[in-house]
Amino acid sequence: MSSFLDELNDAQRAPVLHKDGPLMVIAGAGSGKTRVLTYRIAHLMGQGVDSFNILALTFTNKAAREMKKRIATIVGNSEAKNLWMGTFHSVFAKLLRFDGDKLGYPSNFTIYDTQDSQRLIAAIIKEMGLDKDIYKYKQIQNRISSYKNSLITVKAYFQNPELVEADAMAKRPRLGEIYQNYVDRCFKAGAMDFDDLLLRTNELLTRFPEVLAKYQDRFRYILVDEYQDTNHSQYLIVKALSDRYQNICVVGDDAQSIYSFRGANISNILNFQRDYDNVGMYRLEQNYRSTKNIVNAANSIIAKNKNQLEKVVWTSNDEGNKIKIHRSITDAEEGRYVASSIFENKMQQQLQNGEFAVLYRTNSQSRAIEDALRKRDIPYRIYGGLSFYQRKEIKDVLAYLRMVINPKDEEALKRIINFPARGIGQTTIDKLVVAANHYGRSIFEVMEHLEKLQLKINAGTTRKLQDFVTMVKSFQIMNEGSDAFALAEHVAKKTGLLLEFKKDGTPEGIARMENIEELLNGIKDFVEGQKELADATGSLTEFLEDVALATDMDKDTGDDDRVALMTIHLAKGLEFPHVYIVGMEEDLFPSAMSMNTRSELEEERRLFYVALTRAEKQAYLTYTQNRYRWGKLIDAEPSRFLEEIEEQYVENLTPVNDGYRYKSMIDADIFGEVDKSRLRQAKPKNGTPPSVQKPNENQLRKLRKLKPEISSPTNNTNKVDPSLVEGSLVNHTRFGKGKVLKIEGIGNDRKAEIQFERGDIKKLLLRFAKLEVL
Ligand code: ATP
Ligand code: MG
Repeated sequence: MSSFLDELNDAQRAPVLHKDGPLMVIAGAGSGKTRVLTYRIAHLMGQGVDSFNILALTFTNKAAREMKKRIATIVGNSEAKNLWMGTFHSVFAKLLRFDGDKLGYPSNFTIYDTQDSQRLIAAIIKEMGLDKDIYKYKQIQNRISSYKNSLITVKAYFQNPELVEADAMAKRPRLGEIYQNYVDRCFKAGAMDFDDLLLRTNELLTRFPEVLAKYQDRFRYILVDEYQDTNHSQYLIVKALSDRYQNICVVGDDAQSIYSFRGANISNILNFQRDYDNVGMYRLEQNYRSTKNIVNAANSIIAKNKNQLEKVVWTSNDEGNKIKIHRSITDAEEGRYVASSIFENKMQQQLQNGEFAVLYRTNSQSRAIEDALRKRDIPYRIYGGLSFYQRKEIKDVLAYLRMVINPKDEEALKRIINFPARGIGQTTIDKLVVAANHYGRSIFEVMEHLEKLQLKINAGTTRKLQDFVTMVKSFQIMNEGSDAFALAEHVAKKTGLLLEFKKDGTPEGIARMENIEELLNGIKDFVEGQKELADATGSLTEFLEDVALATDMDKDTGDDDRVALMTIHLAKGLEFPHVYIVGMEEDLFPSAMSMNTRSELEEERRLFYVALTRAEKQAYLTYTQNRYRWGKLIDAEPSRFLEEIEEQYVENLTPVNDGYRYKSMIDADIFGEVDKSRLRQAKPKNGTPPSVQKPNENQLRKLRKLKPEISSPTNNTNKVDPSLVEGSLVNHTRFGKGKVLKIEGIGNDRKAEIQFERGDIKKLLLRFAKLEVL
């Protein structure tokens, strides 16, 4: 056939050409599994399989988009558009929009994100009068989530004495009730959380054979990437849908299974051959991504795991450089090392920022790296953490839009009923919640019938509530006649949200306003983009769904050149020429939380394998001897994983016991960043220059004492603010001269109220305010 098959090696071509029936490709990192999946889809289409009959499930929506693009170049754009491709969550959200009504959901159901779920659970715990220190809402949310992913419904929970007992033993005998209330409230609010998208799909396919038959017939070919990380709920969906035609192709790597803490079940891979008849088994061995050094080093690590399938991975790529290991004294120095190394590599080899990635075990590690990159003016992007769509002002606008689509949405309503302030207090809201629970209705429905219900809410407040209802209804009417952008713009203005932030006048308020503008731009882009698609219209519902299911990765348009910062978990499936893996220390990586059993430790090791195999040309592993964690400076020990790599593949940049490093610590970390008075304190008293000696205990103690000041949040505060007191005269770059009336708050929240000469009084966040003390 066409030449695209020439872009595969023989081992890859075999699963691509495999005729109908189940097949599985198990192979190590970088061996072309994702490529096989992509090309198989193109090949199927080339063989006449209708693109409407193909379903592909990927780890991120971005991966799906890239695959689609690649397929489009082979088979043409218009055909590629019809493919159902995306993450489990986005694909099955779409399916539930069509058929969720059979389960009693509106087609415009809201998707609650984790924050919405947590808020609702916290509210329920409070309403039930439970102790919030025992019933911790985040833990409870986690627990409910894992029940759902194991298909343990409320009913199943109560029928399982073991579960009930376990929660009672954990001093949470009422967990089942919370679960029940939570499920009821979501349902009443016309909302599904992330786990519901899978759980309800399962329910739909099990309870309605005609629906199952319809989708079995539609998705005659199903392909799943990263199969090793599917959970039980996902497994069952795939199993049910593929049951009739058995055209199921899964690709994965047991050595890269890293999501068991979220219920991923590696036995899905191990049992595949048992679940289907006549499985075509394929192995790929050649790695195309990385140098020999990286491939061999990664092999030497994963060999330490006892529980793994036998696999060979080799490469014909260059030998490459050895993996560089670098030790620092503090995490701040580690950050600086990474930044300067990136800088030097960029200069020496003429590289782009986008060719570098910094990977870490936990999100909080990014701060030190960010600080250092900023100082060097190296642009970066953080994936994960608080995404754009989780910012307060953005969630506020989105909450209004969610109300337009689904006024039953309780979390959205609670968020905005009194924002911007319209005189509706907490007591009133509590009364509404109680009434809603009592009548089994949503809060909005209660608000629509205030007069009949006699809730002891005074006339003034009743009017305010009715005005709110009228406003939401007016948006709904407008929504019928206009696209998402026009409506969103109208909502932002009409509700007073834009004005609220503008009025604020502070740089932070302005930043919030700009973010809302950015959101509106995003909606406009979305609307334009959707209009080109066959099965989309650019409606508000589509936009909200896109937002709810967007992962950070998805927003990466790739059009600006930045260093990528992300957790190793997020980096799965990706590749970068230069990779820095930071924080290679015991208790951090492997994580202290995952060292209790062999299987936990093995999962950490797999995580390390994933991290290292992201690198194409050069990998760096860095660790530090002192790390600032949980508010304290602690001694850190090098990670055991460093020793597990065979020596021949690594190069130690910082031999043990070299005094030079300590010099660099004392010069840069202490003297460089704190004021001179501290410098004198930190100097060793015996007069020996610190430059050539390992610090003694006394010095280390002092270093530890100093550290919190170096990294405290106030560090971001504008340089002038320690000397800023009530009565200070200041100059602001935009507002001119003024006098400080009051200072309040601490750390990042420190604010000053300033009377400016031009007449107005403003409250400014010192963190952002560009002030000079006169
Ligand atoms: P991971 O386990 O990390 O998900 P993978 O097995 O899915 O990796 P791919 O991402 O498909 O591997 O491929 C790794 C890299 O090698 C990609 O850049 C891909 O384009 C390239 N590649 C794969 N096969 C070939 C080939 N036959 N010829 C040239 N390049 C290839
Ligand atoms: Mg892949």
